[in-house]
Amino acid sequence: MDDLASPDHPDFARRAHENQARLTSALQPSYDVIVCGAGSSGSVVARRLAENSDVRVLLLEAGGSDDADAVLNPALWPTNLGSDRDWGFKAQPNPHLDGREIPMSMGKGLGGGSSINVMVWSRGHRNDWQLFAEEAGDPRWGYENVLGIYRRIESWQGAPDPKYRGTGGPVWVQPAPSPSPIALAMLEAARELDIPVFDHPNGPMMEQVGGAAITDMLVRNGRRHSLYRAYVRPWLDRPNLTVLTQALVRRVVFQGRRAVGVELVHNGTPMVIGARTGVVLSLGAIQTPKVLMHSGVGDRRELETFGIPVVQNLPGVGQNLQDHVSFGCTWELSEPLAPRNSGSEATMYWKSRPELDAPDLLFCQVEFPVPSERTAARGVPAHGWTMFAGLARPESRGRLRLQSTDPAAPLAIDASFLSDARDVTTAAACVELCRALGNAQAFRPFVRGEVMPGDLKGDALDRYIRDAAVTYWHQSCTAKMGRDEMSVVDGALRVYGVDALRVADASIMPRVTTGNTQAPCAVIGERAAEMMREAHGL
Ligand SMILES: Cc1cc2nc3c(=O)[nH]c(=O)nc-3n(C[C@H](O)[C@H](O)[C@H](O)COP(=O)(O)OP(=O)(O)OC[C@H]3O[C@@H](n4cnc5c(N)ncnc54)[C@H](O)[C@@H]3O)c2cc1C
Repeated sequence: MDDLASPDHPDFARRAHENQARLTSALQPSYDVIVCGAGSSGSVVARRLAENSDVRVLLLEAGGSDDADAVLNPALWPTNLGSDRDWGFKAQPNPHLDGREIPMSMGKGLGGGSSINVMVWSRGHRNDWQLFAEEAGDPRWGYENVLGIYRRIESWQGAPDPKYRGTGGPVWVQPAPSPSPIALAMLEAARELDIPVFDHPNGPMMEQVGGAAITDMLVRNGRRHSLYRAYVRPWLDRPNLTVLTQALVRRVVFQGRRAVGVELVHNGTPMVIGARTGVVLSLGAIQTPKVLMHSGVGDRRELETFGIPVVQNLPGVGQNLQDHVSFGCTWELSEPLAPRNSGSEATMYWKSRPELDAPDLLFCQVEFPVPSERTAARGVPAHGWTMFAGLARPESRGRLRLQSTDPAAPLAIDASFLSDARDVTTAAACVELCRALGNAQAFRPFVRGEVMPGDLKGDALDRYIRDAAVTYWHQSCTAKMGRDEMSVVDGALRVYGVDALRVADASIMPRVTTGNTQAPCAVIGERAAEMMREAHGL
């Protein structure tokens, strides 16, 4: 408390507020770097660049403050869904889901997804990062280097494990404290099925076949510790970092092929702000491709259909949309049991087929029922729990399409869940393993019985899967990093064919990581900042 510079000092909030009020009331015509989007990746990029006091950084965010109980109280995360902190995207009717239009929530406001998500911290599998390195042609995206980044950025609160966990970084990560008895039962159930149980999920468990563990969470002193809170908030009193909320980015401004600024609407007022060194798009996997397209970067034919002047033909923009589709299986509790922490404290990864090189199934226990709008009609118990059982390696690919020349108009989101028949086969294996787990001996003391799906076979199981499918909220891969003709950014996250424009968010993933996506987004932000500092001597 004596350290005046610490964000925990009682004086800090006042100083930060006064500093930002001063900076935002005197916006400059240009900054060194403009970071668009204060979500999981954008928060990291802005902070890391602003660590050099000579670099003027402007961080633009369409939403508002994160200073609300709905954000900071970990138990209240579901209350943000459908609120003004949610972009409220909805996928188009999906013929593979009997025409269902799946809601695709994404965070709007400081912290982006990391301010409304379930706070699970999950690093991705070793093989994900090896694939990133191969696609990028750069070993610095590989597992060993990324493991080093994780060690550097974490402030790990669990039992010491220096090979895997760091303790000196900005991201406070803790194992869920005093987990619910049903979270512990899940680990016991895994043991019954001969699935290994680990001390934490972010080490050896994600180097091999998978396993089960108590969840790591971004919660500090009982409050959500979003990536915005971890990275940007402690920097709000610095004169070289301006954080502008209610600032909707519409387009990147080009001079020839060089990005020289952005066009935005701030509190209803249109403006253009210049960027001397570069622009970084960190708007998330729906909005980054959207802004690219409206700026003239995308599939030439699609842009021309809407009369958008083409700056660079990149047919991969908005393609390759991936997500971890999930199927909830629900049990009724014999006695009410209040959810603890975020209500999701145990996790498991496993393979549907032994020959796979990594787990393709992802399970997060939720300590209350989470049906889809369809499966809710099958009856939801007053007291129950759901296994959010998902595909960690989906084969289906969706895409985003322009619908209008107007940047204010939404894109059409074709999520295409289960469009690849292999995903339906894996989903059946996923539900089968989920039922074996939930019906294991370990849960008997707590559970009255299985509510859904029950022992379904053939068409009935197929129907359940298509009715139950929902997003895991891991939208990604729509501006992928790589070296083929569908790639949008290179290994340094530079948009192909133009200068001074990078993408740093979940869009750049070539393939969605095996697990929850915010931790990989932090790594993407770290890599982006590192490469910009290197390239521009920042
Ligand atoms: C309900 C929910 C639960 C989830 N649970 C987990 C979990 O427990 N663990 C986990 O690891 N992951 C979870 N995720 C996913 C994770 O939060 C996201 O993958 C991650 O936040 C994506 O980071 P990003 O930087 O790509 O985009 P985001 O974090 O979405 O950030 C994008 C930012 O850009 C802003 N923005 C968008 N368009 C504009 C514009 N035109 N102008 C200005 N600003 C704009 C947005 O408001 C947002 O702040 C969850 C997501 C949701 C929605």
